[in-house]
Amino acid sequence: MSSNEAEIRRQFEELSETFPDLRLSEDKPGCRVIRGILYFSATFQGVTIADSFSILIMLPQDYPNSPPIVQETGSRIPADFHQYPDRTLCLGAPVEVWRRFKSDPRLITFVETLVVEYLYAYAYFEKFNKMPFGELPHGAQGIREYYHELFQTNDAHILLALLKVLADGTYRGHHPCPCGSGKILRKCHGPSMLELLKNQPKELFLKDAENIIYSMERNEFENFDWGLLPKKLKRELDEMARERANHEKCA
Ligand SMILES: [Zn+2]
Repeated sequence: MSSNEAEIRRQFEELSETFPDLRLSEDKPGCRVIRGILYFSATFQGVTIADSFSILIMLPQDYPNSPPIVQETGSRIPADFHQYPDRTLCLGAPVEVWRRFKSDPRLITFVETLVVEYLYAYAYFEKFNKMPFGELPHGAQGIREYYHELFQTNDAHILLALLKVLADGTYRGHHPCPCGSGKILRKCHGPSMLELLKNQPKELFLKDAENIIYSMERNEFENFDWGLLPKKLKRELDEMARERANHEKCA
């Protein structure tokens, strides 16, 4: 029995009290999934929606260190509605999903907040043809907006410079803040960065930096300093550029 199995069973029992039509099983060894019908009733700004969806919740091997991922299995939600290419639901910007999950890493909270909010938003969209809480943060642009709000700047160069510190693991409170304020990190963007470091693995910041690059407009690449990229991401992009150059030579 793996170390987190007892914890998962306990959390599942708690989940079943509110959502009795979900079942816990093990698809492959060590690969826990929860599937079934999720009935919910939720109210936002006076609009109550009661509905049900077939869902599949996949627990990562290291659960509850990482949040689950979710698919809708009734073929009701179209692929172009806030989903990733593998058809898992985009419950929000990954960094935001991590932050919210880590603040209370239990299945019941995950389902009642992130999953029900998403399903409510879709059911609302189906009914009224618009989104209930404004657009869900989605894709590269949503991730950029998330960091824009958090760091109070939309300058892609500064966002990347701050993410580089997070992804490379080089945070030191007495170093100058990479935003260029002239202050040291501790007295500038440091506190919000430390909060992020507490809740998310480094790989996520790498992914987010990549998304910031995808969100950039053509003019933002003028005078762009590629040295601002996290080391690992820079290596990956250099490798891609080399492959492309080789390919063009062959053609
Ligand atoms: Zn700063």
